[in-house]
Amino acid sequence: MRITVFLGAPGSGKGTQAKRLAETGQFQHFSTGDMLRGAITRKEPVGISANQFISKGELVPDGVMIELISEALVKVNSKSQVLLDGFPRTIPQSTALDSKPETRVKSAIFFDLPEKVLIERLTGRRICKNCGEPFHVVFVSPKKEGVCDKCGGELLQRADDQISVVKKRLEVFTGQNEKLLNYYDSAKRLTRLDGNQAVDRIQDQLRRLLQ
Ligand code: AMP
Repeated sequence: MRITVFLGAPGSGKGTQAKRLAETGQFQHFSTGDMLRGAITRKEPVGISANQFISKGELVPDGVMIELISEALVKVNSKSQVLLDGFPRTIPQSTALDSKPETRVKSAIFFDLPEKVLIERLTGRRICKNCGEPFHVVFVSPKKEGVCDKCGGELLQRADDQISVVKKRLEVFTGQNEKLLNYYDSAKRLTRLDGNQAVDRIQDQLRRLLQ
């Protein structure tokens, strides 16, 4: 397994980029945020207990998250290229991946953006209730207001994209991020990317990096 982790604040575009890369069929993409939201929708115990942290913009405890991702990775073919988006978010999560040879992280890519841009992106984000396609009230408006271009589903604002929760999520991110960057940088596995560029341009850069 060749694991690349995407690091970056909520709203930095790492999920959008990872989804597009996975559409090529060359990568398997895991978003822990999407996995938790799925578990909430299905009313699974892990989702119900995680939701009390998610709704406040706090991190779900490491033990829960490490188990969730380990259970997913154990099913992956050993020859696959894997993109992790939203995991790891803490040093214990990073060391858990590195502690097993088969899940040791090969490279980390950091999506760097100013906080002002992140707040604008997150608070204006709208997500399709059915397929999860992201839109934005200013930057990526759908053809018909409130309706997904892809599947016709209803567009909603994620509860944790409201300004009070966004501020908490960014504060939590800032508290962990420097440590994560140092962790991967000291092992020469880190690449920093300017996340404040057009989606297509970043996608090209990522394809070159991941070749
Ligand atoms: P995201 O969609 O990646 O922004 O994740 C949404 C929320 O899920 C986060 O604000 C956290 O509450 C929770 N979450 C997702 N991934 C993790 C993780 N690796 N560690 C702890 N909490 C997580």
